[in-house]
Amino acid sequence: MVRVRFAPSPTGYLHVGSARTALFNWLFARANKGSFILRIEDTDVERSKEDYVAKITDDLRWLGLDWDEGPDKGGDLGPYRQSEREDTYRRFADKLLKEGKVYHCYCTDEELKARRAEALKIGRSPQYDKRCRDLSKEEILKFKERGIKPALRFRVPEKKLVVNDIVRGAVVFDTLSIEDFVIMKSAGTPTFHFAVVCDDALMKITHIIRGEDHLPNTPKHILLFEALGFDMPRFAHMSLTMAPTGDRLSKRTGSTSIGYYREEGYLPEALVNYLVLLGWSPGDDREILSRGEMIKDFKLERLSRSSEAFDPQKLDWMSGVYIRKTDVERLARLSIPYLVKAGFINKDIDGDEFEKLKGIIAVVRDRLTKIKDVTSETEVFFNNEFIIKDKDAKAVLSEDNSKAVLSLFLKKLGEADNIDEEIFKGAIKDIGKETKLKGASLYHPIRVALTGQLNGPELKLIIPLLDKESCVDRVKRALNIG
Ligand code: GLU
Repeated sequence: MVRVRFAPSPTGYLHVGSARTALFNWLFARANKGSFILRIEDTDVERSKEDYVAKITDDLRWLGLDWDEGPDKGGDLGPYRQSEREDTYRRFADKLLKEGKVYHCYCTDEELKARRAEALKIGRSPQYDKRCRDLSKEEILKFKERGIKPALRFRVPEKKLVVNDIVRGAVVFDTLSIEDFVIMKSAGTPTFHFAVVCDDALMKITHIIRGEDHLPNTPKHILLFEALGFDMPRFAHMSLTMAPTGDRLSKRTGSTSIGYYREEGYLPEALVNYLVLLGWSPGDDREILSRGEMIKDFKLERLSRSSEAFDPQKLDWMSGVYIRKTDVERLARLSIPYLVKAGFINKDIDGDEFEKLKGIIAVVRDRLTKIKDVTSETEVFFNNEFIIKDKDAKAVLSEDNSKAVLSLFLKKLGEADNIDEEIFKGAIKDIGKETKLKGASLYHPIRVALTGQLNGPELKLIIPLLDKESCVDRVKRALNIG
């Protein structure tokens, strides 16, 4: 059975590239009726933060990437946080020590640093010089007397390694380029390499799907799998997602974090659809894919070998497509926090107000790229005192024809009990007859007076969403401005 994992280090927010790694693992698990496991790699105590764990898991849930085993869910092969697995790492490190596959290294960080600098200065390899590989009993005793706590280093065998990567094909490594690396630090904690291998093996991970940036680590991992006598998983190293600038996406760049897109009001399904096409294709030119279609057509072999840049414009386009497909009820509900923040509505809007909001959203839906846009797109429905930013729109109000149209419209409003589409149409017809104006000369003054803009949804759709008093206020204000 397929078992894959997403193994974030909680040292930053979930960023777009990591979310894509999670997505591909999730899709592979779902496509193969396997298990998707969440493992928190928090061995770096100084940089790992509990807040990040909460935010990462929350963002994954928001994206709809649910896991079958994980820290909160449990599972037979847990615990699923590396900080809770230290006994396990120690046990396997002891095993390797007994078998002579690792050795104690007493070199201090300062010594190692100085030696590396020296090697680089004289043009030699900065690799660890293996000086603790075969220490005599006396030498070891001396170090012990000095109270130095040793690290454990892996005795790298000399051989050629071939990684049959599902995405990249056969990748050959010569272990001569790999130094005797540390598996347990002198503080008694595992290194990333050792913890990952123990966990992947013990959690029975069948496929390791991760970013290409981990490819240089893979030979070390293979050596450890072999040394520990574990079954070897398959590897798939995905191309990386680059920033629009061509640089690597950084965890610390705000606009590349999933949280940023979430706050901006992108729909999770739009973001997932955008991410799945970064370096993967369903085998044809479909771009809008439901989750079911993604699962049905997901194959690791279809992952591209070349990196792709994150393209915010394409994401915006896709987001708009999804918004237009989303029912008004959901969009209205998602809009509430933004409109509350803008001061347009109260948090607890009642049934009638919600119905009105739905009407407003229906009118502006096609103009939204993301939910946050509701703030600017709907201001006109909530605020009689909106500012007319567009100079051309403002200019319309100073034309004589406009004043005539608006004065007549104000009169019509005064005569009507209420304002709806029918009354508006009748009023326009009468004003047209009286002023002999038509088209833009007739509609623009009213549009600008009511909405502040020359473009936008049709007036007959807007009018029913404004009450008569608002219309009167707005027209009076426009006559004063002009
Ligand atoms: N914890 C690693 C990271 O966040 C992932 C390790 C792996 O996928 O093997 O980059």
